[in-house]
Amino acid sequence: MSSAGYEPEAASATLPADGASGAGPAIDPRAATEGLDERLAPVFEAVIRRNPGEAEFHQSVLRVLETVAPVVHRHPEYAEAKLLERISEPERQIIFRVPWSDDSGRVHINRGYRVEFNSALGPYKGGLRFAPSVNASIVKFLGFEQVFKNALTGMPIGGGKGGADFDPRGRSDAEVMRFCQSFMTELHRHLGEQTDVPAGDIGVGRREIGYMFGQYKRITNRYESGVMTGKGLSWGGARVREEATGYGCAYFVAEMLTTRGESLGGRRVAVSGSGNVAVHAIEKVQQLGGRVVACSDSSGYVHDPDGIDVALLKEVKLAERARIGEYVRRRGRRARGFAGGSVWEVPCEIALPCATQNELDARAARRLVDNGVITVAEGANMPTTPDAVRLLREAGVAFGPGMAANAGGVATSALEMQQNASRDSWSFDHTEERLIEIMSDIHAACRETAASYGAPDDYVTGASIAGFQRVADAMLALGLV
Ligand code: GLU
Repeated sequence: MSSAGYEPEAASATLPADGASGAGPAIDPRAATEGLDERLAPVFEAVIRRNPGEAEFHQSVLRVLETVAPVVHRHPEYAEAKLLERISEPERQIIFRVPWSDDSGRVHINRGYRVEFNSALGPYKGGLRFAPSVNASIVKFLGFEQVFKNALTGMPIGGGKGGADFDPRGRSDAEVMRFCQSFMTELHRHLGEQTDVPAGDIGVGRREIGYMFGQYKRITNRYESGVMTGKGLSWGGARVREEATGYGCAYFVAEMLTTRGESLGGRRVAVSGSGNVAVHAIEKVQQLGGRVVACSDSSGYVHDPDGIDVALLKEVKLAERARIGEYVRRRGRRARGFAGGSVWEVPCEIALPCATQNELDARAARRLVDNGVITVAEGANMPTTPDAVRLLREAGVAFGPGMAANAGGVATSALEMQQNASRDSWSFDHTEERLIEIMSDIHAACRETAASYGAPDDYVTGASIAGFQRVADAMLALGLV
């Protein structure tokens, strides 16, 4: 393990800006096609042909196709209606220029995206990501996952995703505001509370939602609260929305453990990331009795054997937007900081990847297994590579895919839409109770569906089949549109 004193400056160059592992394509498309069911292989081939070079999108489609083969066998009507071909083709894709000027008057051009993937169950719903790594592949994979995740919540929401290759880090509030206003000046024409409802994701929090909602309101001259979620409490936001993805993930893990006769009590937990999802997962895991001994950011990770001080972490990472080295400095002797390296080196029984896609690879998975991990649940979207998922499952580790484990965020967004539609505002406790109920229902749906397809402990199969069936049945009912 590479340790030594913490040097944020040097470390920041070791990882890509949004903390992605930087690994190349996580699958070999040709080998993958060969392993697929004969009815599904042509679907996957078409996805590769139509979306060349989009490795993350291919990977997410494959994750679903691999699991739905038995459903297609049971339901020949899906194949007749070419449902899989339709479901893997977005309904609409919008790509646009985002011009803006920085504080010194220099002009910048970014690229904006919104992929409106599927509206069979409700208006397109899903976040916006601002990060330098954003491209068509990333937005499409996120949009595709969102379709099934949203279906799994049982709420009336379709799936979509968007964002821009803009890096808010190091930018002043005024620069972020100008960027958000320019972004929304184009995007507004595609949105509406009954049409498409964005929210946050990496790089987009309450500040950015505020600037975008403000610009939408100005252009349309409508106070249309339900057009965005993740808003501030005084301007149409919902309690628990900020905490919901992380809290939901913690509740989901607790359910997974209970099923195995285990609990979070006294367990060591490692969490990657230290953004909105990670921080709130840490907070709830600790409230439920677990001890979170490590977390990270794109500059390195911290090992804090007594348990992360959440209040301090919130101050450093969410309020000050500083590097994790600052947490180590203020925490004093108790915590050790590691520049670069992998948070998965820290021994734990439960691992929650809450940073970004493909951050937990086979090597990390092997290390986790060697260190005695029993449960892994994805707080981020697709943070575990296919090889790592395979390795964990073969080792008997319970694995909760993001489609289920991180669905609490978007589910609470749907609760925000519900409050906006009825001009109501619920208490924290009531909203959290609803979140707990939804996570428990998702967990049950995963297990029941997996069991009915002969794979009782397989959450990946359970989540994607349960989500897929809800969308597929609605698509059949709505005809060829
Ligand atoms: N970006 C979050 C997700 O990945 C939340 C989306 C939303 O609330 O619409 O699910």
